[in-house]
Amino acid sequence: MEFPPDLIVFLRKVERVSALTGAGVSQESGLRTFRDTQSGLWAQYRPEDLATPDAFARDPKLVWDWYAFRREAVKAVRPNLGHYSLTEMEKKFPEFTLITQNVDGLHQLAGTKNVLELHGNILRVRCAVCGRFTETWGSDLDSVPRCDECDGLLRPDVVWFGETLPRLELESAVTASRRAQVFFSIGTSGVVHPAAALALAARENGSVVIEINAEPTPLTPKADFVFHGKSGEILPALVKAVFDISIQV
Ligand code: NAD
Ligand code: ZN
Repeated sequence: MEFPPDLIVFLRKVERVSALTGAGVSQESGLRTFRDTQSGLWAQYRPEDLATPDAFARDPKLVWDWYAFRREAVKAVRPNLGHYSLTEMEKKFPEFTLITQNVDGLHQLAGTKNVLELHGNILRVRCAVCGRFTETWGSDLDSVPRCDECDGLLRPDVVWFGETLPRLELESAVTASRRAQVFFSIGTSGVVHPAAALALAARENGSVVIEINAEPTPLTPKADFVFHGKSGEILPALVKAVFDISIQV
């Protein structure tokens, strides 16, 4: 993998870096991206029809089961070289903020510390009524487990379509994007709000925007540098070129 020498020199002295990641970063760990078709039992549903407050109100059991299925998929996989490269970048750049739309927790599992989860985390569960978090819940397969405190239905702590993003995380993400001298957009289609807005906020504030994606996206024409390919290959190559560090799992 070849990178422009000027970019490598620039990255060696840059201080404030932010990276936004999406489902593409976890694809090489074996998790499906959002726009991949669902398999098997779930093929008949569109994620948009399972990840909404309406869907949960209509058929909480269906939504709970879908997330239970996805939670098991997440628990079965490991971070990949892309995740570990970002952890190394966090250690090397003086200021580094990782903003993710992923709900799989793989960045944290790979050791990244400063992670802003814009869409929550599928491994966390909270009460849909009182908001109380819970680590354990009943395993009765016929019904959705309920809150010990108020008997409300439990739900995954993820942001559904039509719900607002966690305020503090979003504010911090906007600030980090504006402050960044370099903004990476990695493995995200950039169509789900606010991914595109963050990259543009960075750009408006003079940040160099670098996109890493398997395919062109709406951001591509506006990025300063675009690297097409797998993040699990491009990121380790970049870390090697900039810091002379070999990423291993
Ligand atoms: P998306 O599915 O819309 O886009 C994924 C992007 O990644 C695409 O542009 C694709 O070209 C690219 N891509 C695929 N494989 C890649 C690879 N190996 N390397 C680099 N790029 C690759 O996902 P999104 O933009 O994250 O937005 C969709 C929503 O789906 C988010 O809200 C997110 O919360 C949710 N989601 C999360 C997970 C997860 O946590 N792992 C999985 C699926 C969906
Ligand atoms: Zn409750």
